[in-house]
Amino acid sequence: MSAPLPSALLERLRAIVGPRGCLEVEADQAPYLRDERDLYRGRAVAVVRPRTTAEVAAIVTACAEARVGIVPQGGNTGYVGGSVPGEDGTEVLVSLSRLNRIRDIDALNYTMTVEAGCVLAEVQRAAREAGRLFPLSLAAEGSCQIGGNLSTNAGGTAVLRYGNARDLVLGLEVVLPDGSVWDGLRRLRKDNTGYDLKQLLLGAEGTLGIITAAVLALHPLPSAVATALVAVPDPRAATRLLATLRSASGDQVTTFEYLQRRCLELVFAHIEGSADPLPRPYGHYVLAELSGGGEDGALAALLEEVLAEAFEAGLALDGVVAASREQRARLWGLRETVPEAQKRAGACLKHDISVPVSRVPELIERATGLVEAALPGARVVAFGHVGDGNVHFNLSQAHGSDPEPFLARGPDVARQIHDLAAELGGSFSAEHGVGRLKRPELERYRGGVEHDLLRAVKGAFDPLGIMNPGKVVDPPRR
Ligand code: FAD
Ligand code: ZN
Repeated sequence: MSAPLPSALLERLRAIVGPRGCLEVEADQAPYLRDERDLYRGRAVAVVRPRTTAEVAAIVTACAEARVGIVPQGGNTGYVGGSVPGEDGTEVLVSLSRLNRIRDIDALNYTMTVEAGCVLAEVQRAAREAGRLFPLSLAAEGSCQIGGNLSTNAGGTAVLRYGNARDLVLGLEVVLPDGSVWDGLRRLRKDNTGYDLKQLLLGAEGTLGIITAAVLALHPLPSAVATALVAVPDPRAATRLLATLRSASGDQVTTFEYLQRRCLELVFAHIEGSADPLPRPYGHYVLAELSGGGEDGALAALLEEVLAEAFEAGLALDGVVAASREQRARLWGLRETVPEAQKRAGACLKHDISVPVSRVPELIERATGLVEAALPGARVVAFGHVGDGNVHFNLSQAHGSDPEPFLARGPDVARQIHDLAAELGGSFSAEHGVGRLKRPELERYRGGVEHDLLRAVKGAFDPLGIMNPGKVVDPPRR
């Protein structure tokens, strides 16, 4: 069959989604074509906004017949350039924003079925209203979408307790690269029937198909929460405090986030209304949260008791346990606004690395030394999900310096930091994925048999290579 011309394809797309669902003018398309970090600016044949799974399937069928690349996009908050098209303007961008119904909540089964375009905060809210918890939580939750979260296997601030996004999914509905629909929306906790296809799709960053809906696993809504910001002498003390807290609380630690002093200084400088809750500055902090049953008071007392022992043991220097929901929100604000504060502070290099929790202190120490040698004057802004061994080892340009030479050193510095993570048994991408940005790293650190297998999987789902081309891996040559 001969490929239809782009104009014929456009006509088909318009017919599927209606003229208002098909954006063809550059100004209308603009917000969809640049990524969150402003690393890439793409062009597209069209931006289409389907409302139903059937429309997504019809779009993909039309593109497959025309051999035209498809880029799925959720909230467009991803950090590795996966959600924007290439520069040549040959691809169709499929925005899932209008596919945003909550289809079902089964409180007895602790599940909900949602469409891909539901904003994460809306999913959390709907679960809460049904007396349940959907625990996935990250600073972009007001704009990222569940389809994007699942496609990136997002992590966030509750992984320690509840796992990554892939641990919160029981079933998926997916439009495959040939336009067929896989209805895998099963609500089962036990289902050993061959390869786990949904796990291949989760974290695939839109390269194997378009997730249109998912069955999410819910948890009991905790009745008690206790939150503290604790100053610690160093990252080593932070990891030891975490181990103690996990044992002492019967594993009720939901969040354990590390913050260097510089993170707080950036927040104080750039985020209105923020203030230091402790009377004097310290070099290192953790934001720790316990959650469980019973009342807030009892859990806060437990947290205070463990912290008192930690002060005696020299694992903690100072700290504040939130006395109200407002104070808790303020402590959380210090952690959640770090990415925004860093963005406002100028050019930034990000490294989303993970190692076994026990090796985090060595990672931070050696990476800091490496940056001091390679990029004198750069400001290390290290923070993140230390409870998961995941550090956002970010760098900000020196105050008032020229961003260009700083950014130009980015790839070389990233390579050194990723080599270090690999040496310590870690990963070059803990939670942000591969996208377009980290394809060379994938080849370097996951080469040989593993890379061949990844490509074989890609080829099995998408032999034509039309699903999010140029991201993660290419299919084997035919
Ligand atoms: P997008 O950016 O739109 O897309 C991401 C990838 O998924 C792309 O490859 C895209 O093609 C694909 N995709 C999107 N929707 C679909 C779909 N329905 N079907 C198939 N493929 C699809 N990430 C973390 O993991 N943890 C954090 O703590 C975290 N914190 C963040 C904080 C801030 C302030 C910001 C801006 C980002 C943060 N991120 C974090 C990164 C990002 O928000 C997450 O990766 C998020 O899960 C992406 O969701 P999205 O809807 O924006 O996806
Ligand atoms: Zn993170």
